[in-house]
Amino acid sequence: MKKADYYELLGVSRDASADEIKKAYRKKAVAFHPDKNPDDPEAEDRFKQVSEAYEVLKDADKRAAYDRYGHAAFDGAGGFGGGGRAGGGGFHDPFDIFREVFGGGGGGAGGIFEEFFGGGGGGGFGGGPQRGADLRYDLELTLEEAATGVEKEISYRRPVACDHCHGSGAEPGSKTMVCPTCGGHGQVTTSRGFFSIRQVCPDCEGSGQKVEKVCRECRGEGRAVATSSIKLRIPAGVDDGSKLRSSGNGEVGAKGGPPGDLYVVVHIKAHEVFERRDDDLYCEVPIKFTLAALGGNIEVRTLSGKANLKIPPGTQSGTVFRLRKKGMPNLRSGNYGDQLIRIHVEVPTSLDSEQRRILEEFAVASGDAEEPAGPAGKGFFDKAKKFFE
Ligand SMILES: [Zn+2]
Ligand SMILES: [Zn+2]
Repeated sequence: MKKADYYELLGVSRDASADEIKKAYRKKAVAFHPDKNPDDPEAEDRFKQVSEAYEVLKDADKRAAYDRYGHAAFDGAGGFGGGGRAGGGGFHDPFDIFREVFGGGGGGAGGIFEEFFGGGGGGGFGGGPQRGADLRYDLELTLEEAATGVEKEISYRRPVACDHCHGSGAEPGSKTMVCPTCGGHGQVTTSRGFFSIRQVCPDCEGSGQKVEKVCRECRGEGRAVATSSIKLRIPAGVDDGSKLRSSGNGEVGAKGGPPGDLYVVVHIKAHEVFERRDDDLYCEVPIKFTLAALGGNIEVRTLSGKANLKIPPGTQSGTVFRLRKKGMPNLRSGNYGDQLIRIHVEVPTSLDSEQRRILEEFAVASGDAEEPAGPAGKGFFDKAKKFFE
């Protein structure tokens, strides 16, 4: 099946502003929201589609990628992708984005939902179930792993759905009843002097319902802390500080609410040879002074193996050579940076008598012997003069 165009789905032009896109999404999302269209799979499908479209078009980077490559921009990304901040392949829960736009958030009776969906009571977003908190996991990678991408299995502790009640918070077999405190309204009114204040019912937290018996394992929270193991696919090109989102792997929500996300923050270990600057890799390579003078070929280390480097005769210390595309892949474009090799010319620290004799001969032959070395040399004063001019 061919995927519909994101702009067409939202009914906006390709040059629509961010604000126009947001407004268009609000309209469509409300029209197709499952709460308004119960048991209508077609509406639900449309709701998911417009949410997916909005998720891409609201993000300047993703929108640019979509404008250039269409849906292909997000194909095969799996797990993470879409440029550093995750959410490529598997688009995350369409309700997340809906909440984001309407600002409902976790607890509380989110005002706008009540306007649209006719008052608290039972509504998914009202009081009861709450979205779980986001979690952070710090992941250390080697530079090699960052270059190729890697799959990592991580374990961490987080609240997950209670085994005993499957997250509902109710003891299995116990019935749900109307909240006696608020009579099912989810709100209570208290009088203070001339004013009466409406508040979310503290007994049922706005859901209007209570369970007869709370779960004996989790005491009604619907959650218990347990160790979770998940596999993360780290895309090639991540950098120190890259933040990846693993959708739905945060804390499970209270009382059967949707889970939060897990944010994985990447840390790259220092490398013994290479220093990274954006997509380029820098290293320093020592060579003998004879090789620097005469020229030749050397083998240098690259991140993935070895490469041949030609040293031209007369190479000076500090010269930088560039090996194209031997650097890091770019997280967004996949293009490789370069490897930059700074040459350090090594002068022998001790000479035997034969070596000394040959070098002295060389010095005489090249006229170096007559010119005094050090600061007194003509070369030095010429340079100094230029420096102060
Ligand atoms: Zn339980
Ligand atoms: Zn109540």
